[in-house]
Amino acid sequence: MAGGYPRSMLRLLCSLLLLAPAAPALQDTALQGTVLRDTVLRDTARQETAREDADGFPGDLTVSAEVGADELRGHVQALASDAMQGRAMGSEGSHATARYLAARLAAAGFEPGAGEGSFLQRIPLQRLNYSGVPELLVKGKGLEEVLYNGESFTFSSRGAIPGEPRTFKVQVVREESDVPSEANAELALVMTTSAMKSRRWLSDAGHGGGEGFGMIVLPRKAKARERSKPNGSSLGPVAAGGGAAVQLSLRGPWSERFSSGDVQEITLDAKASVEEGEDFNVVGFLKGAGSEGSPELADEIVVLSAHRDHIGVSSRIQRGDAEADAIMNGADDDASGCAAVMEVAEALAAGERPVRSVVAIFDTGEERGFVGSTYWVANPTHPIDRVVCALNFEMLGRPDPLVGGAGNVWLTGDDRSDLGPGLRERGIAVKADLRPGMSFFTRSDNVPFARAGIVAQTLSTYGEHTDYHQPSDEWQTLDYQHMETAVRVCLEAARALVNEPWRPAWNEGEPRL
Ligand SMILES: [Zn+2]
Repeated sequence: MAGGYPRSMLRLLCSLLLLAPAAPALQDTALQGTVLRDTVLRDTARQETAREDADGFPGDLTVSAEVGADELRGHVQALASDAMQGRAMGSEGSHATARYLAARLAAAGFEPGAGEGSFLQRIPLQRLNYSGVPELLVKGKGLEEVLYNGESFTFSSRGAIPGEPRTFKVQVVREESDVPSEANAELALVMTTSAMKSRRWLSDAGHGGGEGFGMIVLPRKAKARERSKPNGSSLGPVAAGGGAAVQLSLRGPWSERFSSGDVQEITLDAKASVEEGEDFNVVGFLKGAGSEGSPELADEIVVLSAHRDHIGVSSRIQRGDAEADAIMNGADDDASGCAAVMEVAEALAAGERPVRSVVAIFDTGEERGFVGSTYWVANPTHPIDRVVCALNFEMLGRPDPLVGGAGNVWLTGDDRSDLGPGLRERGIAVKADLRPGMSFFTRSDNVPFARAGIVAQTLSTYGEHTDYHQPSDEWQTLDYQHMETAVRVCLEAARALVNEPWRPAWNEGEPRL
């Protein structure tokens, strides 16, 4: 859609959604919601104009108990518009969608779920900006030499690289029994075996992926290359995902010299400065009422989630052709899931209170390795041991011919729990994922929940269309009649979980992750 975007519409959309507040104002989301609604209500005439223009459509601003194609389209158009610039984690576009969804949850009747009256659970992020070629000073018996990034090593960090050089004592791990029992942040462990075996040795010794150590050094058989300054990293989570602060891979002859014990001390000068950023999980809460005879069900929680973020603007396409549309809109992935969760949330909040409580999460960073959902599981806004099921929503905007086309919904990991069978017993037409080879079960935000033992699976209608992760994943390509039918099925599934005492369980030996 690049090039054809009318400037007036862009300004309007920005005035409605971006509201240009400084970052701290984001904390006050209830207020943001009010401001957003007031802006919209005051400006009905402009809103009408916007509704006539597809790109300027400011979202769905109605609240209703019904799931409707128009409402779904409204949410998708707002989230996947070019103004959102592909919603990369930590970007302005991503923040804008957080405000939009928080305002919509407030309007639906959800309480702020992130504490202190806010819908926004803040996730600190960092980016590394490189000023030069990173250097590794190696010292040993009669040895002192500087190695250069690209030529002799490459490294990745967990957002924990400081601007200052850091020194580590080197310890060579030749056998599994050499792995220290106590983690030590001053140590660089040189693993002399394969990356896969190294991981197993570390995790068997209780260190996960190297947690607590300063650096894990992996000798590789990779060829030496040119010295190079790494590209600036994109905003990523601070020390998230476990593992050592730094993972360093050696190139060329230095693999041998590290493994043989020649090197005793190393200092990494990353030549990088750290830039702070942030993004948010949007979290809303709907208190359950319990049922007659089982008031305790009110304290149990059903999580409904979808990811707000997408993959931003393609630098590859930008470099190749200045005129080309480089905005990855992510209409199906996963504006459609967000729209679905929002409409299900509105329906659950309308009318009689549900029996169990509902936590709705529009998380960020799914595309960057489940950042937001991992953060929520590590820092739950509500008692995680009360979560009876986490239902995740991914790519519901287009029909999947393999499961019968329009209106048909499938569940990832259908054979791993009694969730799918339980829904079908209740007459809810949720089908099995027919592409187990694509590993969809392990490719979305249900994963961190499943790792925590919670029955967590994903509803989808994705049929492997070719717009996946392309600039062409635009709102116009979605089938909103299909979505309406599909999301009604999702709503029935959510209702069964929220209103019945039934509690789904993993099958024996599951979840294998
Ligand atoms: Zn997705």
